[in-house]
Amino acid sequence: KAGLYLVATPIGNLGDLTFRARDVLAKASVIACEDSRVTRRLTQAYGIDVPLISYHEHNADRVRPKIIERLKCGEAVALVSDAGTPLISDPGYKLVTAVIEAGLEVTTLPGASAALCALVLSGLPSDRFLFHGFLPPKSAARRAALAELADLPVSLIFYESPRRLADMLSDVQAVLGERPAAVARELTKMFEELRRGSLGELITHYRENGAPKGEAVVVIGGSDPAGKSQALDLDALLTDALRTQTLRDAVAD
Ligand code: SAM
Repeated sequence: KAGLYLVATPIGNLGDLTFRARDVLAKASVIACEDSRVTRRLTQAYGIDVPLISYHEHNADRVRPKIIERLKCGEAVALVSDAGTPLISDPGYKLVTAVIEAGLEVTTLPGASAALCALVLSGLPSDRFLFHGFLPPKSAARRAALAELADLPVSLIFYESPRRLADMLSDVQAVLGERPAAVARELTKMFEELRRGSLGELITHYRENGAPKGEAVVVIGGSDPAGKSQALDLDALLTDALRTQTLRDAVAD
């Protein structure tokens, strides 16, 4: 059937492609992908022989109208990214908008996304969360972005390069204070690792052991309303204490 198919692909383990995704990829007229070498590894593993076209950050504006033309001609176009779910810290959003505006069909074939895998393994509350994707790489901009999240009582999910982990976690601690956190690395791959602890413990680990390899997701516990009310109580206590002292001073005078 004609339309744009947003197809989630594995985030490491090639076995994590759904049956339906395999069928749709095999029957598509064309697969739009980020890096054709990466996608070819997947299609070859599944014996899928469909032409690939590249659709990435740098050529998206030029290629998007061509994809819309194909859809108008009745083709089934599959969009994949290098890993996981397209549009999630990956290209595709503007394409989906253009498809919707053109009144064409778009549907999704759900599957892996590193953000949710990390959240469910983190041991942190999973009922409410905010996915932030990548923070700015430079400390000042990163701290400014973090400041906007400081009061949210929900788990926070970030994508991060392993070589920036120690610096990023230090900025998180500086802006959000001490919190429970987890670093999920190499999910679904041979050296999958979940490191859970306080921000302080994790910072010490990555400072002492150096940057690990691979890909990583960082999950941070939300702002703790209980901690907040304690802080408020402390405020009230101090105000009371000051008032008492002022009264005493007044009586003494
Ligand atoms: N669209 C993808 C998804 O749905 O998860 C994310 C693409 S984004 C460009 C790539 C980032 O996702 C990596 O830098 C890393 O933070 C995270 N990531 C992807 N695969 C991962 C894995 N196997 N283990 C840990 N993190 C991963």
